[in-house]
Amino acid sequence: MGLEEKLPSGVLLTTVEGLAGYARRNSLWPATFGLACCAIEMMASGAGRYDLARFGMEVFRASPRQADLMIVAGRVSQKMAPILRQIYDQMAAPKWVLAMGVCASSGGMFNNYAIVQGVDHIVPVDIYLPGCPPRPEMLIDALMKLQEQIKETQLGANRAAQIKELEHDALLATPTIAMKGLMR
Ligand code: SF4
Repeated sequence: MGLEEKLPSGVLLTTVEGLAGYARRNSLWPATFGLACCAIEMMASGAGRYDLARFGMEVFRASPRQADLMIVAGRVSQKMAPILRQIYDQMAAPKWVLAMGVCASSGGMFNNYAIVQGVDHIVPVDIYLPGCPPRPEMLIDALMKLQEQIKETQLGANRAAQIKELEHDALLATPTIAMKGLMR
């Protein structure tokens, strides 16, 4: 927004935070971005049976400049990685990333040189969704959890402190590549 960066933390900022969080969580626009089989489940989520429109995010945009949510639906090949990053960079800020399925989250069963072992090597991920493939109900559940995260996002000085804390936690976490799954 811009204005909130100039405001001191306090009662006014808390009110602005609440308003911005409410508006942002209820107006997510995902980029149209499917990479593999998971994308079929993502498309099903937007169709009549599951009706993602109920949560204010039915407008899948063909242009990243009109989108603020990237659902990485499927495995990311090494060849696709720079394109994915370019699309992410072109998206409007603030923006969020959902890694859908085990392939996007960690490479999944594709433990080989051609597939990126987790899209968090390319873009910052806000929420991971397990499963192969995750069903539409699971995607909708992950999106609702992401909405909760967005609602709690702080602004200005509070946001800077929140980012510092998140970075600290991320540095302490075990890297995806060092996690031992069934296929490693
Ligand atoms: S998690 Fe399963 S369904 Fe999704 S892209 Fe990987 S193999 Fe396909």
